[in-house]
Amino acid sequence: MVRTRVPAGKRRGRPAPKDGMTIGVDFDDVLYPYHHYLKQRIRARWGIDLSGERVTTFYYEHHPSLVARGVTREALWAEIQGAWLVAEDHAHAALLDPDAPKILEDLQRRHRVVLISARSTNALPFLESFLERHAIRPHEIQLGRQEKRGFDVLVDDFPKHVEENAVAGGHSILYTSDENSNFDESRLPRVHRVHSWREASQVIERIDARRTGHA
Ligand SMILES: [Mg+2]
Repeated sequence: MVRTRVPAGKRRGRPAPKDGMTIGVDFDDVLYPYHHYLKQRIRARWGIDLSGERVTTFYYEHHPSLVARGVTREALWAEIQGAWLVAEDHAHAALLDPDAPKILEDLQRRHRVVLISARSTNALPFLESFLERHAIRPHEIQLGRQEKRGFDVLVDDFPKHVEENAVAGGHSILYTSDENSNFDESRLPRVHRVHSWREASQVIERIDARRTGHA
């Protein structure tokens, strides 16, 4: 795992507040439209067009079209990792939600925000180019994280990470995507499903109000 502190000049000189919460923010499919680019790679390599399709699993190797084509987990994994390292995509991709930068900036006045991703460390320059272009300047970036527990609030689209942080005592915000739309979070009271960053900020405000006794 690599931890990188964003240089002060890049985050407008604002240090992390001391008495706020620590909020973990995932990158892929929370800020960056990752599955859009993965689908493009699947089409380029195997000629399977999933662009108009709602894929309701993270395990694309189980998708009937990929199974029929004989795509292995290993071959797919190469494309998954390859998508982390395409400078062109990161230089042009739009944000999933254009409200995210302003909301994160507001949150960072009161809370410490850590960008946390399972991406490998060599993805850092691409990830940073996207964040910088969209004026998102977290207090810290952590890559190579296979588990993400220990946050007061974690914003993530992957049910496993969301569940682990909630079971460990934090709150988790499940950022809705096609891939997680079948996940049933109703048995997990500390998991809150949202569809936008505005909704996420409202949930975070409620969590913070309860924490500080202002609810
Ligand atoms: Mg993700």
